[in-house]
Amino acid sequence: MKENQNTDIIELTDKNIFHTYSRYPLIVKKGKGVRVWDEKGRQYLDFLSGIAVCNLGHCHPAVVKAAQSQLENLVHVSNLFYTEPQVEIAELLKGQSFADKIFFCNSGAEANEAALKLARKYAHGFSGGKRFEIITMKYSFHGRTFATLTATGQEKFHNGFSPLLPGFKYVPFNDINAVEEAVTESTCAVMLEPIQGEGGVNVPAENYLKEVRQLCDREKILLIFDEVQTGMGRTGKIFAYEHYGVEPDIMTLAKALAGGLPAGAMLANKKVAQSFVPGTHASTFGGNPVVMAACVAVMKELVDGEALENCRRMGQYFFKELNGLKEKYSDIISEIRGKGLMIGMELKIDGNEIVKQCLDEAIIINCTLDRILRFLPPLIVKKDEIDGCVDVLDRVLGRQ
Ligand SMILES: *Cc1c(COP(=O)(O)O)cnc(C)c1O
Repeated sequence: MKENQNTDIIELTDKNIFHTYSRYPLIVKKGKGVRVWDEKGRQYLDFLSGIAVCNLGHCHPAVVKAAQSQLENLVHVSNLFYTEPQVEIAELLKGQSFADKIFFCNSGAEANEAALKLARKYAHGFSGGKRFEIITMKYSFHGRTFATLTATGQEKFHNGFSPLLPGFKYVPFNDINAVEEAVTESTCAVMLEPIQGEGGVNVPAENYLKEVRQLCDREKILLIFDEVQTGMGRTGKIFAYEHYGVEPDIMTLAKALAGGLPAGAMLANKKVAQSFVPGTHASTFGGNPVVMAACVAVMKELVDGEALENCRRMGQYFFKELNGLKEKYSDIISEIRGKGLMIGMELKIDGNEIVKQCLDEAIIINCTLDRILRFLPPLIVKKDEIDGCVDVLDRVLGRQ
């Protein structure tokens, strides 16, 4: 594997690894800050952050250092024992959120799986099993395990996997009447992303989340926020719910939680959390010391560093620049929406081709639902890097 190493990597991937992803023909060798490099040393601006994972940029020094030093002391010991990094990150997360208790796991789907189980367990306790139904949103995305796939309100992900889990209902996002109509005596929870990610970067209407909260309180229904993508500073606050003056009963985190290492967390208030007791839920790797040490570094950086402020400032600048493109290409671009550095550009044409052409010009972006370009740069992105991305978009859109 020397001479044709690079063709080999692509060929051998396609030959040996399940073809569950359509990949771009780019072999990434190195990452630092907002940049990644391929095997020929060509540099790319990463405006996707590994899909909202590397929020502090690639290989953030504090994260690398924290993981490295933990790696040399203790890698794993299981949850049959106590470890310090779990406590440290739990205190930090609690200090910044509504939560009283936290369960650690390894991914977004697992965090949502835990949230769905907790909601049912809690409702089971006071309703004798009569309340089990969960209302989620159309165009939501919650993961690929059976429960989280069922919770995901997009048929294209369901195809071929029926029967799905019973007890789920879908309503349109941003329609409080639809939620109200969907509630029955069997409803135990409403679950939603404060800003929908995979479903097209859909921002909640002015009072929507407040109205959902009020409805849940009135009907004694739990409110679950999936902040797997919106959490950890992405929208300019540590958690997106902080923008909207509401608190959920349960919140899930993953993606950027450990700065690139796999981590997930399910956070809940006291009332709900006590429904989980020894034996109700578990994860072998959940709360792994190396991963938790990385989480601590990420959280400290968000709380004490400049990333959040930069995200808000650069988010506004990027928004303004993208709206400039919208004026110029009003025949192609229909809307710019989002919050902080979670931004979508809805097109009137196929976006996949635009993504490819941007990649040819060394800019990594993404497209969801075939028509919405998604920008998720690291929160540390600088003005000149945004200018670089906007210049390339300008050129690429000018050719359409
Ligand atoms: C990515 C994502 C998930 C799934 O996370 P995995 O780590 O891929 O399981 C769940 N919810 C939202 C909102 C996401 O963006």
